[in-house]
Amino acid sequence: MAFNAGELAVKGVRALQPYQPGKPVEELERDLGLSDIVKLASNENPRTSRDVIAKALALQQSDSSRYPDGSGYALKSRLSELLGVSTDQLTLGNGSNDVLELLVRAFVCPGQGVVVSEHAFAVYSLAARAVGADLKTAPARAWGHDLDAMLSLVDQNTRVVFIANPNNPTGTWVESKALLSFLDLVPATTIVVIDEAYYEYCEGQDFPNAIDLLNKYPFLVSTRTFSKIYGLAGMRVGYSVSSPAIADLLNRVRQPFNVNSFGLAAARLALDDSEFLAESRRLNTKGRNRIYAGFSELGLDYFPSAGNFVCVNLARPADPVYESMLKQGVIVRPVANYGLPNHLRVTVGLPHENEKMIEAMAIALSS
Ligand SMILES: *Cc1c(COP(=O)(O)O)cnc(C)c1O
Repeated sequence: MAFNAGELAVKGVRALQPYQPGKPVEELERDLGLSDIVKLASNENPRTSRDVIAKALALQQSDSSRYPDGSGYALKSRLSELLGVSTDQLTLGNGSNDVLELLVRAFVCPGQGVVVSEHAFAVYSLAARAVGADLKTAPARAWGHDLDAMLSLVDQNTRVVFIANPNNPTGTWVESKALLSFLDLVPATTIVVIDEAYYEYCEGQDFPNAIDLLNKYPFLVSTRTFSKIYGLAGMRVGYSVSSPAIADLLNRVRQPFNVNSFGLAAARLALDDSEFLAESRRLNTKGRNRIYAGFSELGLDYFPSAGNFVCVNLARPADPVYESMLKQGVIVRPVANYGLPNHLRVTVGLPHENEKMIEAMAIALSS
C-alpha cells in the first residue's frame, strides 16, 4: 500500500484548515516590488520599546548557550506583584496561543464539549478540533458574544468555554453584569477561559477584569499576552492567571522550556515601561477615533472596538477591496473565514499609516 500521511493523521487534524495569518510585509515586497508597505493586519502594536529590546539583548547575550529558566521566575515574580496574585497562579506560554492550547490539552478529551461564539477568534476552534472535541458554536448577538446562547450550549459534557473579551476580529466585548450572570450559572464541571489579549487597551467601568473574579469563580482562567500593547509579538510570550490547581495541571502539559530566554527578559522589562504603555494607549485611542471618522466619511459602518483594531462593513464582497489595497501597499485582514465576507479588519497603526490605509480604502471603493 502506498504511503498516505493524510490517512494516518488523527481524525481531528485531517479536517483542520490552518490558521490564516496576516500577509507578511516581506512577502508583499517580493510580490509587488513595493517598499513603504503599511501592515495593519495582525493587531500588533505599531511600535516596540527600543529600550526594552536593547536591555533584553544585553542581558541575554552571554547566556544564549544555556536553556532558559523553565520556571520563568523573574517574569512571574514581577507579574505576581503587579497583578496581585501568587506566582503559582501563573502559567507562561509561547504566546497566549500556547496557553489556550494547553487548556484544551489538559481538560478536553475527544468527544467532550467546547463552546465558542460565532465570529470568535479562530484559535479556540482550531485547538478544539485538533483534539476531536465536540465543538459547539453559539450564534452571535449584534455581532458579539451572546452569553445566554452560549450558556444554553453548556452541559455536563462541556469542559471549556472560550470568551474573547474583547473579541478579535469584531472588537465587541461583554460587560461585567452579563459576565457575572453567566458565571453564576455555569456548572462546576466547566472551565471558563476569558481571553483578555487586549485587556490593557480596554477602558470603562463596565469592562470586566477576569483576574478580579478568580477568587469567586475557581473554574475561571484569564489569558493575557505581551503581543499586543507591550509591542512584543515577535517574542512570543503570554500567560494565564487561574487557580493554583489549574495552573499546576497546565504546567504538567507544557514544554519545559516553552518560553525563550530573550522573550522572558523582554517581557519582564516591558512590564515596567509604563511610559511606553501609556503612550501606546494614547496613540491607540487617537488612531481608532481617526479610523472611525475616516470610515464614516466613506459612508461605512463599523463595530465600535475595545481593542487596537476596527472591523468595517463594506456592504459588498471584501476581497476585491482587500486586493486593491494590497496593490497600493496596504495590508489589512479579510475576515471571510470568520463568517464576515463583507468586512475587513484593520489594526490601528501610526498616524501616517492610518491615513494611508483610509486613502487606499477610498481608492479601492471608488474603482
Ligand atoms: C492576538 C490575540 C491573542 C494573542 O496571541 P499570542 O499568542 O499571545 O500572540 C490571543 N487572543 C486573541 C483574541 C488575539 O487577538
